[in-house]
Amino acid sequence: MTYVVTESCIGVKGEACMEVCPEHCIFSEAVDDMSFIDPARCTNCGACMAACVVGAIYPENSLPRDAAEFVNLNRDWFRHRTGVRQRVRELAAEIGVWLPD
Ligand code: SF4
Ligand code: SF4
Repeated sequence: MTYVVTESCIGVKGEACMEVCPEHCIFSEAVDDMSFIDPARCTNCGACMAACVVGAIYPENSLPRDAAEFVNLNRDWFRHRTGVRQRVRELAAEIGVWLPD
């Protein structure tokens, strides 16, 4: 099990979750439009979920039905970031979140 960053983080980012994660396993680079949790290192403490002001983080086993894709997006960011970044931008367009070029 892991915790998962979902849609509400897109275009928001910030560092609240990163600051409280005892495993330092939440990441985002300057070119990213959201943050990602490394499922290989998450110890399921739940601290990030409580810290996120937009409610973007869920336990994997309690994800909203329409957020299932984010399990793969979080995991895959640690493998091949380019494809994940492209998909996040597509999702942003679909939900109407403006992102800078
Ligand atoms: S605190 Fe929430 S909105 Fe901010 S980076 Fe973490 S998941 Fe994204
Ligand atoms: S559940 Fe805990 S260990 Fe996992 S990402 Fe959140 S703060 Fe880090």
